[in-house]
Amino acid sequence: MRLLKELDQKDPAAVGLELHNFAAELYPICRSITGDGIRQTLESVGRRIPLRTAEVPSGTPVFDWTVPKEWNIRDAYVNDSNGKRVVDFRRSNLHALNYSTPVHATMPLSELKPHLFTLPDHPDWIPYRTSYYQENWGFCLAHNQMLALEDGEYEVCIDSTLEDGNLTYGECYLPGQSTDEVLISCHSCHPSLANDNLSGITVATALAQLLSGRDLRYSYRFLFIPGTIGAITWLARNREAASRIRHGLVLTCIGDAGGFHYKKSRRGDAEIDCAAAHVLRHYSESAEILEFSPYGYDERQYCSPGFNLAVGCLMRSQWGSFPEYHTSADNLDFIRPEQLAGSLRVCAAMMDILEGNRRYCNQNPYCEPQLGRRNLYRSTGGDSVGTDISARLWVLNFSDGQHSLLDIAERSGLPFATIDDAAELLFQAGLLSVTQS
Ligand SMILES: [Zn+2]
Repeated sequence: MRLLKELDQKDPAAVGLELHNFAAELYPICRSITGDGIRQTLESVGRRIPLRTAEVPSGTPVFDWTVPKEWNIRDAYVNDSNGKRVVDFRRSNLHALNYSTPVHATMPLSELKPHLFTLPDHPDWIPYRTSYYQENWGFCLAHNQMLALEDGEYEVCIDSTLEDGNLTYGECYLPGQSTDEVLISCHSCHPSLANDNLSGITVATALAQLLSGRDLRYSYRFLFIPGTIGAITWLARNREAASRIRHGLVLTCIGDAGGFHYKKSRRGDAEIDCAAAHVLRHYSESAEILEFSPYGYDERQYCSPGFNLAVGCLMRSQWGSFPEYHTSADNLDFIRPEQLAGSLRVCAAMMDILEGNRRYCNQNPYCEPQLGRRNLYRSTGGDSVGTDISARLWVLNFSDGQHSLLDIAERSGLPFATIDDAAELLFQAGLLSVTQS
């Protein structure tokens, strides 16, 4: 049974709630590109799907980069002269500049200020800031919170460690009939940010659950990795596996209320690009297709010229385009169960196309075969009768070994599933042979 069909048999509210509950479980964890936050996140993913984690030592060269030191944090605060916590990591892990070096000192406000990051345009939101590759320390806070700080001495403490350790990533591999692979990749390195990271992690996990235990055409590889450095590290260590990737998808920002955006692979005309465009046209309310650009998420690494993999990126609101992006407002209220479930549906429909898309050859190319004699011209049912028969005629006419089922779906304007059903029926009736499996 197709993934989408199986998914649609479930209660959509329950599917959405499960996704959102998983996001809520992961939300409080202080993730970063290394450290225990991402390990804890992968443990949660690993309780749902078979996950193998890799630990890559700090200092390991990966192409032009080096695996950084491992960062961990226990606490961070700013105390006023009365000992009152005026900035408190325990209230939001966004308060600590991600990758802050440890500090414990007392200083006047004027000395502290260069280490404070705020968003004057959204004075109640806490920004998310990182300093991975330049050692620094700092606090992120609401602008109004900063304005309330009076002159005086402040005790600042960031109880963190930045030491040689490891970079951690997780892989879920689901073997199929072919060793050719479909890659699903999501970054798992942001702390309490829901749309930007948790939506991708939760939908990817649910998609892996949906694919598990099935007789699959392709092998599937799900990567839960720190952004940029994680993709670079995985690619550097897995050149051979990377060469088997036929189709790929980066999942990010897919829980918000915005319409879908699909960013094409660098190739621009890959099967995944066509599948995404088809699915978004037929199975979503509103969608926009974006051309490839060398900026964004890990598709940048997968689509670097040396690899040039057929990997696109599925989003709802595009990164950087919504005000909540990289702020405390990208929280659990910003992602909704029904939107997460809708994104899972789109992913399932895309995988259905990859699994089902083939070229067939009509065994009776000289005039139409007599379908009525085979009980394929009339079928019972209401309105769908016309569509079903139309789909059979489209498949027969264009199954010349040149057109794939997706090509035929596009040309006929019919959804892929309808065309695929027709092909299956015609194949069973001996009217088609497979020319490309
Ligand atoms: Zn981000």
